[in-house]
Amino acid sequence: MKDIKHYINGHYVGSASGKLFDNVNPANGKVISKVHEAGREEVDAAVQAAKAALRGPWGKMTLEQRTAILHKVADGINARFDEFLEAECLDTGKPKSLASHIDIPRGAANFKVFADMIKNVPTESFEMPTPDGTGALNYAVRRPKGVVGVISPWNLPLLLMTWKVGPALACGNTVVVKPSEETPTTTALLGEVMKDAGVPDGVYNVVHGFGGDSAGAYLTEHPLVDGFTFTGETGTGEVIMKAAAKGIRDISLELGGKNAGLVFADCDMDKAIEGTMRSAFANCGQVCLGTERVYVERSIFDEFVGRLKEAAEGLKIGPPDDAEANMGPLVSLKHREKVLSYYQKAVDDGATVVTGGGVPDMPAELAGGAWVQPTIWTGLADDSAVVTDEIFGPCCHIRPFDTEEEAIQLANSLPYGLASAIWSENITRAHRVAGQIEAGIIWVNSWFLRDLRTPFGGSKQSGIGREGGVHSLEFYTEMKNICIKL
Ligand code: NAD
Repeated sequence: MKDIKHYINGHYVGSASGKLFDNVNPANGKVISKVHEAGREEVDAAVQAAKAALRGPWGKMTLEQRTAILHKVADGINARFDEFLEAECLDTGKPKSLASHIDIPRGAANFKVFADMIKNVPTESFEMPTPDGTGALNYAVRRPKGVVGVISPWNLPLLLMTWKVGPALACGNTVVVKPSEETPTTTALLGEVMKDAGVPDGVYNVVHGFGGDSAGAYLTEHPLVDGFTFTGETGTGEVIMKAAAKGIRDISLELGGKNAGLVFADCDMDKAIEGTMRSAFANCGQVCLGTERVYVERSIFDEFVGRLKEAAEGLKIGPPDDAEANMGPLVSLKHREKVLSYYQKAVDDGATVVTGGGVPDMPAELAGGAWVQPTIWTGLADDSAVVTDEIFGPCCHIRPFDTEEEAIQLANSLPYGLASAIWSENITRAHRVAGQIEAGIIWVNSWFLRDLRTPFGGSKQSGIGREGGVHSLEFYTEMKNICIKL
């Protein structure tokens, strides 16, 4: 069985402690590989390498040279597409049909998009008068932030990690990445691609391990890291924010959500069902932007619930290689315990279980996997934990509403503010409602339609800052104003 090592200063290295942990295939519960767990020593080596690389060839490259290398990184991922696909699907259990058109191609695209974007961003300049009449000229330049700590989750491992590493490197930074302990393989594999593409040693570093008392905490405590970009749970974001406060380091936080879908009677029902199906069940419900609360105008409530139930019962659950399957397992048995605890809580709180609510029957060779049924509830009170907590599983609660004001109030009733989907063919209403929803990302008559140039991030407890397009520059660069007296 292969072991997965850290990638530090251009080389794969094991942990001095010899500590290894299991990487488990969630489709069958079998161990795929052993992963080295970084101690303070390896994290320090990675950060020191990243710091030194800022002063090496990377820091001296022209923008053209740097961005040409990032194009080669994207080409390198695409050249090894099948290897990345296999690794991502083994780690996550997700269907290959999904990962082959989202995770891997978008993982590669993140390098090209940000390399091209950075070449086309103008800077600002202000002329000013001076008392002696000669005037002065201000202009701003952008410089890399330095060493960026990248801490990423398991739901879209390559995609969400490169979403940060792409712009970080395009802006001239160096990175130390701590991928999720659940899904370390593609982040590790990317080291080989970086090397082949000509990324200098020390620019891209990877340390494996857990969060608290492990690689994640050691990274956030390291004083030479200049800023942290994190995607994960809101509670973890709070811990990272505290660690970053020491030394006044910058943070970009993409956190959890409990997103609302608002379905108005004037919607196109086919579109609303298709979009809500994807937003509740894609990636086995493990998408931060997913819809776990669906509010439906009362006059179409019964029809909507009936049609969503029928569609959910049509989902085909299966392992990554099953070409017919459109739903895989959850990421781990531990996560399944959490999701199933909410399935039980829904029953305890008096929900009507419209469909699902348990574990599906799977063939013997898959019985050890983290499988759950797609689940729909109605009838829960607004303050049930099932309706207020992020479950991160293939489930949603559907509740009727009577007025537009009530729908908006319900959507805004939680401390999260990540995303929302509005389903209405009345474009005036859609604009009006979109303007009042407290969330960073609103879709009208669609879901997960992503243009990588747009601002991406959450409001309220769903995050701090925006990444995407030029907005990524705000975090990955320091702006410096130069004032010249003429
Ligand atoms: P998580 O917070 O448990 O872990 C994320 C990463 O943080 C992992 O690499 C983990 O090892 C690390 N970590 C945990 N504790 C740490 C600590 N004390 N110090 C440093 N690092 C630590 O999240 P998860 O379960 O991997 O991912 C699911 C969560 O991510 C959900 O809440 C989901 O909504 C959120 N998410 C948000 C977005 C977004 O863009 N807003 C995107 C995807 C996922």
